[in-house]
Amino acid sequence: MADKSFKYVILGGGVAGGYAAREFAKQGVQPGELAVISKEAVAPYERPALSKAYLFPESPARLPGLHVCVGSGGERLLPDWYKEKGIELILSTEIVKADLPGKTLISADGKSFKYQILIIATGSTVIKLSDFGVQGADAKNIFYLREIDDADKLNEAIKAKKNGKAVIVGGGGYIGLELGAALRINNLDVTMVYPEPWCMPRLFTSGIAAFYEGYYANKGIKIIKGTVAVGFSANSEGEVTEVKLKDGNVLGADIAVVGVGGRPLTALFKGQVEEEKGGIKTDGFFKTSVPDVYAVGDVVTFPLKLYNENRRVEHVDHARKSAEQAVKAIKASEEGKSIDAYDYLPYFYSRAFDLSWQFYGDNVGDTVLFGDSNPASPKAKFGSYWIKDGKVVGAFLEGGTPEENKAVANVARVQPPVENVDQLAKEGLSFASKI
Ligand code: FAD
Repeated sequence: MADKSFKYVILGGGVAGGYAAREFAKQGVQPGELAVISKEAVAPYERPALSKAYLFPESPARLPGLHVCVGSGGERLLPDWYKEKGIELILSTEIVKADLPGKTLISADGKSFKYQILIIATGSTVIKLSDFGVQGADAKNIFYLREIDDADKLNEAIKAKKNGKAVIVGGGGYIGLELGAALRINNLDVTMVYPEPWCMPRLFTSGIAAFYEGYYANKGIKIIKGTVAVGFSANSEGEVTEVKLKDGNVLGADIAVVGVGGRPLTALFKGQVEEEKGGIKTDGFFKTSVPDVYAVGDVVTFPLKLYNENRRVEHVDHARKSAEQAVKAIKASEEGKSIDAYDYLPYFYSRAFDLSWQFYGDNVGDTVLFGDSNPASPKAKFGSYWIKDGKVVGAFLEGGTPEENKAVANVARVQPPVENVDQLAKEGLSFASKI
């Protein structure tokens, strides 16, 4: 006998879970029909804030200010909103077993939840150094950042270790770069360590990275490249004191923050649903291989129509839009209607210090750097185009205005032909503005 039964269950109360709930409310849902089940203790919030304003020493972002859907300029969904809509928010509840044929979820405390339609929105989790048996990796004050609890613990340590030393291990991703900035703003002595030849190599060209590395150096952040952490020392209280690097260097550390990658949370569904490229495979309506089971956000590998390829996208814009698409598809199919398949233009962004970049499209092919990318410039503005088969397929812009960002988004979508690459470099942003 099920403890509870719903028409729709959203499993995961993160970004995608929150945006899916809003879309259900928009499309029309009866009280008691929908539940959001989440491991976290709080209603869905805009996760990207955790490595940005949530860590600010002054006027930090806090709940309830960062509940979804403020990140995309929408109404803030406070816990009362769910109550008013008759949506059951089942928090602090981890699902440990999913029986897809039986349409039942089981929680860690033994409750069962039945559904008619399930939306999987479990997101990703961080990879931990202790998973690889890195020596000393379980010392106190070694942090990972994924959920609000992690950010709260980091904030406590920032206060306790005032003016101390912080090491960002594997800090060459955008979250590591944001964290490096946030810790520096908190007046910690920051060192960032990453194995790659430059930061964010999955997206940044060496030219783009040179700007950020120079900018960070000017802010007093030390960067050590080409090596990894192989161990940690701790004091008698069990608190981290040193980070040992493979190249033999030993860095003093009062706080270490580790960002060595994430993993989509698919384990509950292993063997029950088709997977591809590490994610749960869906169609352009976010339907999985199992009837009445949808998946959205970080966890899904979906058809990226624009590039005729199945991909996984671990960014907030896709989390929001895939959630909306899935709910629209569910509602349309109930009414015997159809909607267009998801046609997504990849969009990522990051903010740190007074910097802000946006990227649209695909980062493949040749690249052209344009604009002022001198890290010492008072207001640097620069970008890069990616050119494949004679067409612009991707565009990056640092320091753009909303109109300029719109223009680079448009270029990535339209994919205009490029006759002369030198000319494109010279034209820079004005090339995008005239498309
Ligand atoms: P999540 O938001 O992670 O939500 C998943 C939810 O499911 C969580 O609440 C989790 O606790 C819950 N859950 C998982 N398993 C279970 C279970 N078994 N039972 C119950 N609940 C479960 N993207 C950008 O584009 N720009 C940025 O600047 C940016 N900054 C970021 C900064 C940080 C610190 C982080 C961590 C991510 C950032 N992202 C950014 C990525 C973005 O936040 C994610 O792509 C987005 O949150 C994915 O949404 P989601 O709903 O799929 O997963």
